Amino acid sequence: MSVRAEDVQNRRQILKRSRRAVFFGGAGVSTESGIPDFRSQDGLYRQKYKYPPERILSHTFFLEHTEEFYEFYREKMLCPDAQPNAAHIALAGLESEGVLAAVITQNIDGLHQKAGSKTVLELHGSVWRNHCMRCGMSYPLQRILKTKGVPRCACGGVVKPDVVLYEEPLDQAVLDRSVGLIGAADTLIIGGTSLNVYPAAGLIEFFRGANVVVINRGAPAKDMRGVYFIDGKIGEVLGAL
Ligand code: NAD
Repeated sequence: MSVRAEDVQNRRQILKRSRRAVFFGGAGVSTESGIPDFRSQDGLYRQKYKYPPERILSHTFFLEHTEEFYEFYREKMLCPDAQPNAAHIALAGLESEGVLAAVITQNIDGLHQKAGSKTVLELHGSVWRNHCMRCGMSYPLQRILKTKGVPRCACGGVVKPDVVLYEEPLDQAVLDRSVGLIGAADTLIIGGTSLNVYPAAGLIEFFRGANVVVINRGAPAKDMRGVYFIDGKIGEVLGAL
């Protein structure tokens, strides 16, 4: 896809007027960093596993098949060497220019922070944080990377990633803050998300501002009428700003 000059101009106009823009994104933001998403052509949901990925990434599966969970998680969900792409970098730049108030992400990879974004709300947690299910002790990602099988705490408890698995509730404080930021935003940029995962996808309903810009490869699951929709790779689109 080539980025049209007219699109770039329109985006610049919208963003120039924004002071409290919010970016709401998902796994598609990180595919250009080499991290597969779930629902694209080459996403994890199109690959064949012994169990469907939704089941492996569920709370029940974690408790009942912890070893198999970690096998999948280490192989498919952990990309500690991935680097921010042009989309992450452009969003960090918009924040430092005073245009963007926050990034609200469904991603768990920490790439927005790596790119320099300061206000990042992680709806689904982060692979970089882990805790012991018995004593609560915190562990960095290195603990998971350096161990084999099920990682254990010094107390013997199982270490669990601070990632929101299917069947688990989202952090209420992060949700409340996200609702506040989206409700107060003048521009909402949505990118790299199929808008299939709830309750996260429902947050965009709280937007009351003037402009919605959607940047995605293919239309997301929601009705895109009345929004400024750019069908393209988000790194290329935001990188051309
Ligand atoms: P999804 O896989 O359902 O949808 C991704 C969307 O992004 C698709 O519509 C796809 O066409 C689009 N896309 C892919 N690459 C793109 C690109 N370069 N530019 C623009 N659009 C692109 O992902 P989702 O909506 O975020 O929901 C699934 C869940 O996946 C989330 O809860 C998230 O936690 C989890 N997840 C996160 C990561 C990560 O942290 N990087 C990776 C995989 C899955």
